[in-house]
Amino acid sequence: LTQLFRPLDMLGMVYRTIRQGLIDMAAMFRLIDMPVEVADAPGAPALIIREPRVIFDNVVFGYDPDRTILHGLSFEVPAGGHVAIVGPSGAGKSTIARLLFRFYDPWQGRVLIDGQDIREVSQESVRAAIGIVPQDSVLFNDTIGYNIAYGHDGATHEQVVAAARGAAILPFIERLPQGFGTEVGERGLKLSGGEKQRVAIARTLVKDPPILLLDEATSALDSRTERDILATLHRVSAHRTSISIAHRLSTIADADTILVMEAGQLAEQGSHADLLRRDGLYAEMWARQQAESTAQAEAAE
Ligand code: ATP
Repeated sequence: LTQLFRPLDMLGMVYRTIRQGLIDMAAMFRLIDMPVEVADAPGAPALIIREPRVIFDNVVFGYDPDRTILHGLSFEVPAGGHVAIVGPSGAGKSTIARLLFRFYDPWQGRVLIDGQDIREVSQESVRAAIGIVPQDSVLFNDTIGYNIAYGHDGATHEQVVAAARGAAILPFIERLPQGFGTEVGERGLKLSGGEKQRVAIARTLVKDPPILLLDEATSALDSRTERDILATLHRVSAHRTSISIAHRLSTIADADTILVMEAGQLAEQGSHADLLRRDGLYAEMWARQQAESTAQAEAAE
């Protein structure tokens, strides 16, 4: 009987993995009504990751046939490297994330993870390899433990505790009278923006993916909480390949490489110091944001 049910269990697992990814992705890009655009090739094998390198190879893509959004984009994120994507609104940053998660296929060019074209492997395995830490995480009306383990029904209590520790939310949970059994969400304990972020980070740690996709996570947080969360994210991404989509440049200044997107093209790339020396678009965006934060600090005095 167990034999008989194993495939069903597997199906359930696949479904939950995909659902988890989709919920995070929906939260990240508010794409609840996203159409299903791609399908697995018949018999597509699972992605095998030995070195989680990500390559965009001359990718051309648009949502509508008459409007190209990415115009032949190429870049590489080495295994364990940290790349940040910045650029003005509408430049195509989130589109890159959607292609990596294979919501769409490129018109031309390829997206490769560890040398494998993601069109040729199963979507489920691609999505299982990528952990998303979205801006606004979806919390369910259930216990905080359930919310951390969400999408990973096989997770043990020890794994959930370890993930909470990694996300620096364990002391908070341990102080609650009901601990991991505390109900949260609309009908339970309301979590602050920073606490929700930490639940999202813990959820990603339970998944333990080799690749992390970080949406700029800190827009609604005060600067101290923001600094703490950033420190946690740095720790969590230390041994993983990570791609951050950022609006504020101060949060990604220490990335190995910063890709500066402009109108679907790579305008510049390099480290923070390289790009400042170059005195181009990035240097201009940096100067503007520095001036804005000085003005805000003065206004707050
Ligand atoms: P922001 O910083 O504002 O989030 P972004 O750099 O992430 O912007 P994208 O979301 O990648 O930009 O959008 C790039 C372009 O693609 C925009 O002009 C946008 O209008 C268009 N676009 C995005 N999603 C869709 C969609 N589902 N259908 C049609 N066009 C879209």
